[in-house]
Amino acid sequence: MIQRLVIIGVGLIGGSLARALREAGAVGEVVGCGRDRAHLDEAVRLGVIDRYELDAADAVAGADIVVLAVPVGATADVLETIGQHLEPETVLTDVGSVKGSVVDDAHLVFGQLPPRFIPGHPIAGTERGGVAASISDLFRGRRVILTPAATSDQTALATVRTMWEQCGAEVVEMEVTHHDQVLAATSHLPHMLAYSLVDTLARLDDEAEIFRYAAGGFRDFTRIASSDPVMWRDICLANHDALLVMLDRYIADLTLLADAIRAGDGERLLEVFKNAKAERDRFCGG
Ligand code: NAP
Repeated sequence: MIQRLVIIGVGLIGGSLARALREAGAVGEVVGCGRDRAHLDEAVRLGVIDRYELDAADAVAGADIVVLAVPVGATADVLETIGQHLEPETVLTDVGSVKGSVVDDAHLVFGQLPPRFIPGHPIAGTERGGVAASISDLFRGRRVILTPAATSDQTALATVRTMWEQCGAEVVEMEVTHHDQVLAATSHLPHMLAYSLVDTLARLDDEAEIFRYAAGGFRDFTRIASSDPVMWRDICLANHDALLVMLDRYIADLTLLADAIRAGDGERLLEVFKNAKAERDRFCGG
């Protein structure tokens, strides 16, 4: 049982974690922290947190577990604020979509990845942010990736693992760089495509006419372009190396597709489309 859970950043992910643990009866008190009192009042009203502090240094007092659930670009500042105030037994974790930058931030602030700081990333979410969008079963049946170091405290690792399992998630461990490469391909690149496509169309002269005829496929493909811009700016900047590798590769493949269309090379187009359909049907179901 987690006696006191502190969530810094009570939005979609932080709020959903609190809800899931409450529903599982796995937590006593939940303390929230953020910048905006109105957001935190709403979190109390919704029953997601019991109380809140506006200063993260005050919030972490007496915590069993502290979860950072802020945009990754805010990680260093938050670590700086709470660093001197964490109690020796407190377990620290985060939910950031990039892990290399979070580990770098920990090194910057603490000179090392503290043994009781277990970086994590739930592979679950929606394009809607804020505590009002949080739901208790967001992590049920989903994976959570933890990226502990060789120096990580095994008890702290077990505590974070158990916390996510109590939310119905399957926990896997991964090396930091590998995590960032995999997520660049499966999540960060698709977000770039969706944002860029909608932005391109929005800047066409007959934008209103274009969007009037946008049907289901367009909605499906671009849903993730409704995600929070600040969060995605931070993810791009934090995972720039791995994301640029994937973007360069994708741009090269897109150029080949354009070349095939220009050359009237139907064989080549069929080859790409057949391969893509077969792979998607295999991984996602037909
Ligand atoms: P969110 O709903 O916007 O919540 C972020 C929370 O952080 C807000 O409650 C905000 O509250 C607080 N916050 C923002 N900037 C802050 C700052 N500089 N200092 C302190 N608090 C700050 O976002 P989210 O979707 O939960 O994402 C949170 C983290 O989860 C991000 O690191 C993201 O990469 C990761 N993640 C997201 C998803 C997803 O699909 N959304 C999936 C997996 C992981 P105030 O405005 O009141 O400060």
